[in-house]
Amino acid sequence: MKKKINFKEKIRRFRKWQEKPYEVAPLSDQEHECATCGTRYQGNFCPRCGQSQRIRRYSFNMAILNFLDVWGLGNRGMFRTIRDLILRPGYMIRDFLSGMQMAYFPPFKMFFILFAFSLLVTHGLNIKGKKLSELNNESSTELASPTLDAQKQPTLILNQEDAKKVDQVNNLMKRTINHVVRSINRYPNLFALLLLLYISGCLYFFFRHCPNIPDLRYSEFFVSLVYINNMYLIYSTVLNFFCLPILASYTLILSLIPLKQLSGYSWWRTISYSFISIFIMIVILILICTLWTIFTVLYAVT
Ligand SMILES: [Zn+2]
Repeated sequence: MKKKINFKEKIRRFRKWQEKPYEVAPLSDQEHECATCGTRYQGNFCPRCGQSQRIRRYSFNMAILNFLDVWGLGNRGMFRTIRDLILRPGYMIRDFLSGMQMAYFPPFKMFFILFAFSLLVTHGLNIKGKKLSELNNESSTELASPTLDAQKQPTLILNQEDAKKVDQVNNLMKRTINHVVRSINRYPNLFALLLLLYISGCLYFFFRHCPNIPDLRYSEFFVSLVYINNMYLIYSTVLNFFCLPILASYTLILSLIPLKQLSGYSWWRTISYSFISIFIMIVILILICTLWTIFTVLYAVT
């Protein structure tokens, strides 16, 4: 019985910690002399050149931070942001939107770094040392080939001229698909951002008047989704590193947690709004593909 209460108490404290905003280090009231410019001042940073008063003799810790700084990772914000994206993602995003920008690693910079890292992992930097696409290639080619074959063989018996037109349409569509696939492969990070822009457009409709931020701007919501995507990249990269790509794709469901924490909606609302948005997105995509097919056919025929 006692153990149970302790566990509940722990959960309560964790919840409180999740909601609690980031605490800034207390202002130092000692007088310091700046090691760079010699200005005497009170506080944590030199008002003239911005150097921290904590910088003293060069240590191994600083060497590591300086080393990480080569890739723009050399501040503690990165580690705090990763921790908060795992333990309190939605509250962290709320804090960031309310102006706590110094405390967290910038969202887009983090996105490009995590994305580059996830590409490295999927292209062989994992425990098996193999490309993940090679590991599950068989299943995807099996899925792709029958549909292409079905397109190649017209079911109706056509005269020569019509058969030629069908061929033309097929070629044109294949060329466009190849072109799109090649562009995605060449600029995967930009494509991911475009996809996020599309997703945020549909989701924003449901979340713009949420209880926690009733006047949420689209730009703010888009940045929130970039952070949520960063959270997903953290989980999926770790799982991909252990060659568990299917489990990695399931972690996309975890995006519901920050959406709930950020919006203040109930679980039921968060889940239903998200699924309605996904449904609308798929319908729009199908519509676009249908229109595109009709235009391609018209273009090839005339
Ligand atoms: Zn100074």
